[in-house]
Amino acid sequence: MSRFLSGRLQSLQAYVPGEQPKVSGLVKLNTNESPFPPAPGVAEAVKNAAARLQLYNDLKSEKLVRLLADTYGVKENQVAVSNGSDEMLAFAFQAFGGGGLAFPDITYGFYSVWANLFGLDAKIIPLNGRFEINPSDYRKLDRCIVIANPNAPTGKALRRDDLMEIAECNPDSVVIVDEAYADFASRPDVSALGLAPQWENVLVVRTFSKSRQLAGARLGYAIGHEKLIEDLNRVRFSFHPYNVNALTQAAGAAALEDPEYFEKCRKAIMENREWTRAQLLSLGFRVMDSEANFLFASAPGLGGAEYQRRLRERNILIRYFDQPRIRDYVRITIGSREQMEKLIEATKEILA
Ligand code: PMP
Repeated sequence: MSRFLSGRLQSLQAYVPGEQPKVSGLVKLNTNESPFPPAPGVAEAVKNAAARLQLYNDLKSEKLVRLLADTYGVKENQVAVSNGSDEMLAFAFQAFGGGGLAFPDITYGFYSVWANLFGLDAKIIPLNGRFEINPSDYRKLDRCIVIANPNAPTGKALRRDDLMEIAECNPDSVVIVDEAYADFASRPDVSALGLAPQWENVLVVRTFSKSRQLAGARLGYAIGHEKLIEDLNRVRFSFHPYNVNALTQAAGAAALEDPEYFEKCRKAIMENREWTRAQLLSLGFRVMDSEANFLFASAPGLGGAEYQRRLRERNILIRYFDQPRIRDYVRITIGSREQMEKLIEATKEILA
């Protein structure tokens, strides 16, 4: 740290992303990426966009926003796009978190980092003993509520009706629903996306990083009431108007134009998740129900750190969080069937 760093930032605990080693042959199940390549049309679309990079990108991301609005049956002014959903969440925290925030103790680690960075008071609400959000803990909080649904790293999901009840009990606050993983939900009652625009105070934030195989392109979006979208754009234009670059806009549009590929990849992940879950259960693991592209699991007789270390020795990366309540657990991203078979083989060796 230099002696010039602003006082407020000196105690900031930055977010620690999962490692991204460049080692060949690694089975990488630690950052919830897709094991599949982008949709076949993406590379050509990016190449065409690259020929016009001397120009600034479209400030309105017109094509991308139109395709998102068509895909989800909402109006274009009910959609905003961002440089990864991390950026959208940061915009939303700034826009709606002035009166304070509330989120669970075990959830996406970036929420508390942004709260500190932006100087927003955060009320931390413990998950119940089954690692679930108890909707009645979120009544009349009078502050902006942030819920990852499905939650990370547990993978458990609230019912959309419970989310709407939370919104109803907090009419003067925005409820931000982070649906980074909602495309992988097998239960049909999870996503609030279709309802959000009719609610004055519900904002759904999503990403192309997981279910649309574009983590490296950095593309996120929000869907909600047009006034909330207008507020997000006010923050964007006060910070970084050209936030979604031309290559990413082209990549995102091409991905949306191939719904069959999206479905195929999504289904494969969901099937591999259930296969892996059954395998882990048969090996004596505790595994939480997951509606996401990862499993939160605890190995029999092994702490999370130890299981992660022993897999790493075998070139398999998973994620461990050194955090109270969850030290027995690890988060395992669902990859291809071949990757999951390697994980299970290595786990059998470790347990033997
Ligand atoms: N929300 C949750 C719950 C996440 O796990 C992640 C991925 N780390 C994000 C948001 C951000 O994803 P991205 O910025 O790649 O869209």
